[in-house]
Amino acid sequence: AGPVASVKGLRVAYATARGPVWAVDGVDLDIAAGESIGLVGESGCGKSTLGRGLLGLLPDGARLEGSVDVQGQDLVRMGRRRMRRLRGKVLGLVFQEPMTRLDPLMKVSDHFEELLRTHERRLGRRERRARALEALRETGIPPSRYDQYPHEFSGGMRQRIMIALTLVLKPPVIVADEPTTALDVLVEAQVLALLADLRRRSGTSLLLITHNLGIVAEACDRVAVMYAGQIMEEGPSQTVFREPAHPYTRELLASTISLSTTELHSIPGSPPDLADPPQGCRFSARCPDAMRVCPVRHPGEVRAATGQRVSCWLHRLDELSDIERMPLER
Ligand code: SF4
Ligand code: MG
Repeated sequence: AGPVASVKGLRVAYATARGPVWAVDGVDLDIAAGESIGLVGESGCGKSTLGRGLLGLLPDGARLEGSVDVQGQDLVRMGRRRMRRLRGKVLGLVFQEPMTRLDPLMKVSDHFEELLRTHERRLGRRERRARALEALRETGIPPSRYDQYPHEFSGGMRQRIMIALTLVLKPPVIVADEPTTALDVLVEAQVLALLADLRRRSGTSLLLITHNLGIVAEACDRVAVMYAGQIMEEGPSQTVFREPAHPYTRELLASTISLSTTELHSIPGSPPDLADPPQGCRFSARCPDAMRVCPVRHPGEVRAATGQRVSCWLHRLDELSDIERMPLER
């Protein structure tokens, strides 16, 4: 079977005083049925923007190009109004902070009622209630708490309710953007285990957006590493973590291990200005292996010998001249 979701040439620009800034600039990504993909990178790399672009949740004035095909429908071309109707149904979303999504004045039951009335119009009242209680039970929320308000739940339980609200529409793909960042470590582990378990049982695919590589190593079949709006490397998690093909992935892994915290700061230098990105490799200003060709020509994408997709000239050395291969002087 083909991918359940296929992203091609996706570009997202924010309008700024200096003109459009392409926060996502040419991303290809296929998501197979039932698989989990981790999308990782430093903050500001475009991973959240990519998630929002997929869901059509961009601010006014933002531009979206390329295609996002889910079950044969191109979400980019369908326009905002239809996208709003389909959102949640074809792509579920789990956000970082559930309190910003749950209305404090609405009971849990009201949230489910509103959602199911919008997206599952054929269901009657009793069927809606049954579907909601089933989703809650699957996420470990007792049915007896159906008529309580969000503030009556702990942070972890609120995130479970958010997950139930996502799952109740049975979307083929769930996009989760830093879903556990606001939680403490123990609760985080529980929520992640829950997501992984639910995904396995329901056959839903998961795109997990996070800066936490440890989580991806544990929870994801594949990983895509993003830098400055582009994917640097993508492949099976085991391969990428054991034999990273891209210098940025290596740096990212090294900084994670050395810091063993959730924030990544130790790669020297900073990402390029996306209002005026380098024409060649976007990591060239920070890359310890940079060659003369790197800032000048974009490496494009190739297969590494170990199988992952990689965007780096080190995997195309035989195409370069002796001069192009010389170390970059900075
Ligand atoms: Fe480093 Fe060059 Fe590869 Fe970019 S293309 S990651 S600068 S070696
Ligand atoms: Mg983010």
